[in-house]
Amino acid sequence: MSFLPQLLNPRDGDAALLVALKGQGRALLLDCGQIAHHRRELFHPVTDLFVSHAHIDHFTGFDHILRSLLTRRQTLRVYGPPGITERVAAKLGGYTWNLLGAEAVTILVNEWANGSITTTPFAAADCFMPGPSAVCEAGNLLLAEELLTARCALLNHRTPSLAFRLEEADHLRIDTETLIAGGLKPGPWLGRLKRLVREGADPETPVAADGKPFSLGDLAERLVRRERGEILAYVTDARGSRENLAKIIALARGADHFFCEGMFLEADRERADASAHLTARQAGRLAREAGVKRLTIFHASRRYGGNHAPLLEEARTEFAKVE
Ligand SMILES: [Zn+2]
Ligand SMILES: [Zn+2]
Repeated sequence: MSFLPQLLNPRDGDAALLVALKGQGRALLLDCGQIAHHRRELFHPVTDLFVSHAHIDHFTGFDHILRSLLTRRQTLRVYGPPGITERVAAKLGGYTWNLLGAEAVTILVNEWANGSITTTPFAAADCFMPGPSAVCEAGNLLLAEELLTARCALLNHRTPSLAFRLEEADHLRIDTETLIAGGLKPGPWLGRLKRLVREGADPETPVAADGKPFSLGDLAERLVRRERGEILAYVTDARGSRENLAKIIALARGADHFFCEGMFLEADRERADASAHLTARQAGRLAREAGVKRLTIFHASRRYGGNHAPLLEEARTEFAKVE
């Protein structure tokens, strides 16, 4: 698996980053500003929607997602900052739902606050009335799956705004040359071997490789190569305060791809401060200090009339790999 990210709007459009998970038939969506110009099918693979905050340019597209998934028997998990449950409930409460069948979407809202997550289901089968909530301690961990984790950092945008870090599990690759040199034939046993390694099973666990008996530790050392999985960080709508900047650097540390807002030029710093946004130069500096591989600047102000070259140049004075 690897991340295939795609911004759904031009650089100065509403925030929405679709992240397809390669080979999984699945996608994640980070923010959902205006997206109704995209066909509904694009959103069928979305299983998880991460909402930084509910300003209209980040959340107006929720209706389009809802409509895309409405009659599908699937669950959409929504993650967001304090207040997100009420916002989703208000959206769902804006329509009449008397004609839905049981085979329709369930929305599981996960509201993050002070390290705990309150999960509330809204099922189409119940006309989107909220079900009972459950609370769990999570730290900054929103999602923990075998191949994927998602973490958040709470930023100040004069309203709470969440930034996100998506992390793929290490890739486990079989060294086929060594395999063949050892006289072993590939087969389903390789899948079991990888699964046991991923689970961290006891190295003494017996594994039948191509019908021959081995220990897991022995086989893993000879055949399994570990490569670091990808990391994607997404940061938008945050004041350029010292506290925010430190949190962003920690969140984005070592990311392969860092998506960061660059709303204003440094010359418009007063506007940036007044509206609690970052400048392109700050985005570049954050990318450098976090040691990321590449940076994409998005969520530019419309005041630049679509001419974003100066924003990119400004970011490049701090960090070379700006896309
Ligand atoms: Zn915004
Ligand atoms: Zn905002």
